[in-house]
Amino acid sequence: MNDRMQRLIDRLSQEHALSLGEYEELIAGRTPESAELLAQRAVEAREPIYGKTVFTRGLIEISNICKNDCLYCGIRRSNRNVERYRLEPDVIVACAQEGYELGFRTIVLQGGEDSFFSDEILCGIVSRIVASCPDTAVTLSMGERSRASYELLHEAGATRYLLRHETATREHYERLHPKGMSWDARMQCLYNLREIGYQVGAGFMVGAPFQTNAHLAQEMRFVEEFKPDMCGIGPFIPHHDTPFKDHPAGTLELTCYLLSMIRLIHPPVLLPATTALGTIDARGREKGMQAGANVVMPNLSPVTVRRQYELYDNKICIGDEAAQCRSCLQIRMRNIGYEVVIDRGDIRKTAHTNSVRLCHQE
Ligand code: SAH
Repeated sequence: MNDRMQRLIDRLSQEHALSLGEYEELIAGRTPESAELLAQRAVEAREPIYGKTVFTRGLIEISNICKNDCLYCGIRRSNRNVERYRLEPDVIVACAQEGYELGFRTIVLQGGEDSFFSDEILCGIVSRIVASCPDTAVTLSMGERSRASYELLHEAGATRYLLRHETATREHYERLHPKGMSWDARMQCLYNLREIGYQVGAGFMVGAPFQTNAHLAQEMRFVEEFKPDMCGIGPFIPHHDTPFKDHPAGTLELTCYLLSMIRLIHPPVLLPATTALGTIDARGREKGMQAGANVVMPNLSPVTVRRQYELYDNKICIGDEAAQCRSCLQIRMRNIGYEVVIDRGDIRKTAHTNSVRLCHQE
């Protein structure tokens, strides 16, 4: 690795920011050596805040019915080859309770933008989960909704919201989405959610069609400025029934590199090693952890519908029961020296205080 790359990594570790040109340079000039150094620095940055703990989120995919037509997504409205489903509120609450018993203290409800889930129905589900799962964070990932809707859901007890911005560049957004979907509207949702008081998760796909290193530099700048509480990044994986079926998937290598950069830009960020990363490489989630991630999101959806929530091809874990998913990840993490904990897994905002606390506990 040349001196220039070394200096950029040093500065990123110390200053948690670079210029746009420097971000791009660090990404474009990457080598196995720079990836290794970045990963080492990312793990060092995570250590005083989260140690070797891994937070889990139990993901319930509540509906694959969607009014949107995102060009990359397997459950887009135009895909006639999907068998559509929607879970009954009682089933969703039962899945959450099962998750609670298995040790999950964060439940994520994710789905397509399905109008069945009105504010009234969704608020009812959220409050039932809050009432029956003590000390559990209810997270929603149900797409774009009005500010008033986000407010009602927050009052009902949802405290976190995951809404990937998908790309920090308007022109790029417009190439990934049909006319009528707006980058500004999506970004506004993130700001609304934050103002209402949610812990907010943003994110993007690595290797999305038409993505350039300049776009990725903008992603890094976005993380630096918005400082999302959580940042979900995973490789784009083509789905055979979408317009992007012939585009190549994102790589493990670049995803891990960006995970490390994001950890260094915003050390307390909650960073999942995603299912998509586990899909493109059998040890993808382990490698994500070793690059600086600290969250995994096992599937809690009923096995009967797993196959139908197919955002991309070859998605893993479609046959495993919830308990198997959790214990499989527990074993995988233990094998690399990490420990899955029973914890809400809130963001720890003050690195310094937490490093002191962790030292005292030992
Ligand atoms: N309707 C919700 C949930 C979307 S699915 C919302 O709008 O937020 C969750 C995420 O899966 C998306 O934000 C997208 O980044 C990712 N995703 C969709 N299709 C994908 C694909 N083909 N490859 C990888 N990730 C994909």
